[in-house]
Amino acid sequence: MIYPIVKYGQAVLERPAQPVKEFNSDLEKLVADMFETMYAANGVGLAAPQIGISLRLCVIDISGSQDPQAKLVLANPVIISTEAEQMEEEGCLSLPDFRAKTPRPLRASVRAQDVSGKEFTTTGEGLLARAFCHETEHLDGKLFIHHLSRLKRESIKRKVRKLMKAGEW
Ligand SMILES: [Zn+2]
Repeated sequence: MIYPIVKYGQAVLERPAQPVKEFNSDLEKLVADMFETMYAANGVGLAAPQIGISLRLCVIDISGSQDPQAKLVLANPVIISTEAEQMEEEGCLSLPDFRAKTPRPLRASVRAQDVSGKEFTTTGEGLLARAFCHETEHLDGKLFIHHLSRLKRESIKRKVRKLMKAGEW
């Protein structure tokens, strides 16, 4: 099932999400739906609050469904270490059509649980490190625009408000 993606401006995106406690068939179904929703939107990552579900859960696939091994489910993820820096364009399915150069660590290690509840740690570099940070922050109610200059952030917010007023958001 493909969920509608919640856009910036809705409260669920800006509040901390609840820990995943139950690892059952409902969670498996939700994860499958999140992958389906992410692929349909051509995203490389999706966090549960982006479909209106305030759970500490996200899915990532930087291969864009090309490599089954690239599929990652992170339940209750925590970034445990970061290294160096990168500055690349970043976007978010909840802020469609807005992209900006966003500073992120070049490498990031994340500890999380998989869909069955098993704990694991993995390290990503480049786009994957970016995805770990971006998606984990969603679960704390934080969006990538938080990392931009005030000027840039306010400019994006202003444009979003205009689109809202015009009924185009
Ligand atoms: Zn996002």
